[in-house]
Amino acid sequence: MVIGGGITGITAAVDLADAGHEVVMVERLPSVGGRMLQLSETFPTLDCAQCTLTPRTVETGQHPRIKLIPYAEVEGFEGQAGDFTVKIRKKASYVDWSKCTGCGACEEGCPKKVKTNPFERGVGVKKAIYTLSPQAIPNKPVIDAANCRWINTKKCGVCAKICPVGAINYEMADSFVEERVSAVVVATGFDTYPLSAFGEYGYGELPDVIDPLAMERMLSASGPTGGQVRRPSDGEVPQSVVFIQCAGSRDPAHHKPYCSRICCMYTGKHARLYKHKVHHGKAFVLFMDVRATGKGYEEFIQQSVEEEGLVYLRGRVSRVYQEGKKLMVEGVDTIAGHPLEIPADLVVLASAIVPNEGQAKLAQILGIDVDANGFLREAGYKTASMDTVREGIYIAGCAQGPRDIADSAAHGAAAAGRVQAFLARRGKSA
Ligand SMILES: Cc1cc2nc3c(=O)[nH]c(=O)nc-3n(C[C@H](O)[C@H](O)[C@H](O)COP(=O)(O)OP(=O)(O)OC[C@H]3O[C@@H](n4cnc5c(N)ncnc54)[C@H](O)[C@@H]3O)c2cc1C
Ligand code: SF4
Ligand code: SF4
Repeated sequence: MVIGGGITGITAAVDLADAGHEVVMVERLPSVGGRMLQLSETFPTLDCAQCTLTPRTVETGQHPRIKLIPYAEVEGFEGQAGDFTVKIRKKASYVDWSKCTGCGACEEGCPKKVKTNPFERGVGVKKAIYTLSPQAIPNKPVIDAANCRWINTKKCGVCAKICPVGAINYEMADSFVEERVSAVVVATGFDTYPLSAFGEYGYGELPDVIDPLAMERMLSASGPTGGQVRRPSDGEVPQSVVFIQCAGSRDPAHHKPYCSRICCMYTGKHARLYKHKVHHGKAFVLFMDVRATGKGYEEFIQQSVEEEGLVYLRGRVSRVYQEGKKLMVEGVDTIAGHPLEIPADLVVLASAIVPNEGQAKLAQILGIDVDANGFLREAGYKTASMDTVREGIYIAGCAQGPRDIADSAAHGAAAAGRVQAFLARRGKSA
């Protein structure tokens, strides 16, 4: 079983299935793809995230040896390595997916717009019946029960009237299934540190201070703004953007002690993509130092500075506050040693990478450990970073610690290799 259908889990699942093993994939969201579904273009090549991801999600959805259980979570776990029994809660989607053709008519017709859907990070709206993205696999909608007018007030029912195949079922309840599996790969990924944790940047209450995934949604051609960068407060194109790196990372006194590893790179990417869209705009990157350690990464940053006109300033920000329509970014230039004050239209925080919600609880259910920062604990950092204290359970990707797509996919493949070695030792051939 693979838990989590991001690029890490997908890589592990496809490798195991290609090797002849039957794989069950449990994904919490209605579709697979993980954070990559939210991304625009990707460093260091600036190719479109969906172009890399879609062939992999399609392969996962169509593989004859992968059984996909989306919109589901693990609730119970017993047994031992080689023979685990897993209890899975399938959340009510209120749509009978065996009838649904994915035509999208319900989503188009639904009158209820929801601003709080976590996928759009506050940048755009989703309907009360929605799919995650146009390329979603599976491409079937779910109803957001907390916001559906029929479920809450018995008024509306538009989607049921529109659906040509009668797939809407407002009475659907959660259900449970059990699966028996020999081994488990946990690839539950990450989230970003919430804006509400940053008192110095307005506790998430300044609408034009946004998190990095909100910036991704804005930059994404298939996203809520069609790829245009807009100020959330008034929809205007920002003429000056300040990007603050290490927001919450490398700050043991107030936030997280560790380096989140990918923020230097995605910030350079964000600033470049902003300049590609707003040619005359000013992009300032405030950094502690730039850690660009992957292949081609240093060159990416150098090119950003030399050819794209980004202004990199080594500085620490003490405060961001609103002054009229502007955000004032106050701090210190740590090379020149003088105070900094930059008026900006938009501020993008490169917030720390943190474990996904519910990861500690899942670890407890599975009988594995988390580390001091809540990431899944590996049995040995250098040569056994996919192993856990419990035989038959392996971990991979950002669930174990922050990493980029290339390293996540490699870690997923490595975990699949570990599972195969384990099964071979147990004499369980494909
Ligand atoms: C703003 C930003 C920009 C980025 N840009 C780039 C880039 O340009 N290039 C690059 O190389 N990297 C980039 N990254 C990093 C990239 O997003 C990650 O490397 C990659 O998504 C990690 O994949 P993953 O599968 O480990 O985790 P995720 O993508 O987080 O996937 C984890 C999956 O597990 C599911 N899940 C979570 N909990 C459970 C549960 N309890 N049960 C079942 N399922 C669960 C989630 O719903 C999700 O589908 C960026 C990251 C950020 C934050
Ligand atoms: S019943 Fe709910 S999901 Fe269906 S159209 Fe109305 S608000 Fe949207
Ligand atoms: S209208 Fe019916 S068939 Fe079409 S996507 Fe919605 S639920 Fe599925």
